[in-house]
Amino acid sequence: MLPPEFADSSQAAPRPKSFPGKVITVTNQKGGVGKTTTAVNLAAALAMAGHQTLVVDIDPQGNATSGLGLKGQSATGGTIYQALTSDAPDGKDFILQTSTENLSVVPATRDLTGAEIELISLTDRERRLRTFLGPLRARFRFIVVDCPPSLGLLTLNALVAADSVLIPLHCEYFALEGLADLVATLRRVRVSLNPTLDIEGVLLTMSDERTNLGQQVARDVREFFKKKVYRTVIPRNVRLAEAPSHGLPAVAYDARSRGAEAYFALAREVLEQNPGPHAEMQGHTQQHRESKR
Ligand code: ATP
Ligand code: MG
Repeated sequence: MLPPEFADSSQAAPRPKSFPGKVITVTNQKGGVGKTTTAVNLAAALAMAGHQTLVVDIDPQGNATSGLGLKGQSATGGTIYQALTSDAPDGKDFILQTSTENLSVVPATRDLTGAEIELISLTDRERRLRTFLGPLRARFRFIVVDCPPSLGLLTLNALVAADSVLIPLHCEYFALEGLADLVATLRRVRVSLNPTLDIEGVLLTMSDERTNLGQQVARDVREFFKKKVYRTVIPRNVRLAEAPSHGLPAVAYDARSRGAEAYFALAREVLEQNPGPHAEMQGHTQQHRESKR
């Protein structure tokens, strides 16, 4: 069973109002479940909807960085590796603009592999990403962090930095395996390091509707996570797999493909759940107009 404190978002401690930007960490310690595809395409879809969005690549594989066409590149201050290991890094020195409007990235390269060990001896080792991202929340409406397939210190940093986690689950037989470990980790982080951590949502990925197995897995996941599961299901779609080799998010590479359409739908759900100051203002204006009638 999903622990009650995660089943109901209202049980998370309220987020400070002074944080305009929201940090969403895409995580699952299982490999190849669609974390990077989700981080890149959700972020790009949010950017294409007009929201300043930052992808933070905290995976030594650097797949999000290469999927955004910036493989091996560093910003003036370096990559996420320097951002995590140097003293008082200034966020703006670590940001690269991508070819998608409103979408930037803090890139990762292979040198991040060593960080997992180097971080151990640094002060505030679990909070370094949180500290680094703090000032960037003023500049970006959404900050989407792409995690490596492990529950090590890099992922821990991403959980401590996050307002919420988005968990992609591959629609296959072992989808639920390891979830107990992930939920236990989320609980520990919430108790000790990040009391406002929430589950943003659970996303079914690489679904093949033709198989009964996929449907059964989807039912099991909805049973476990209840309302936390997005209505949107990401289908298996070759465009999603092809786009990274062109250095583009699929939503930009082929916006009309089924995969891209699914990520646009996911972005709409995320925006519905996070109306933000702009939408609140619109709602307010609407109310204002109605009260004047
Ligand atoms: P890792 O754990 O290694 O970081 P990951 O969880 O980030 O992996 P992805 O890299 O997003 O997973 O996806 C794994 C592979 O599956 C990639 O080659 C990707 O292009 C492909 N892929 C992801 N989602 C889909 C999809 N819906 N349809 C088809 N291929 C997909
Ligand atoms: Mg990945």
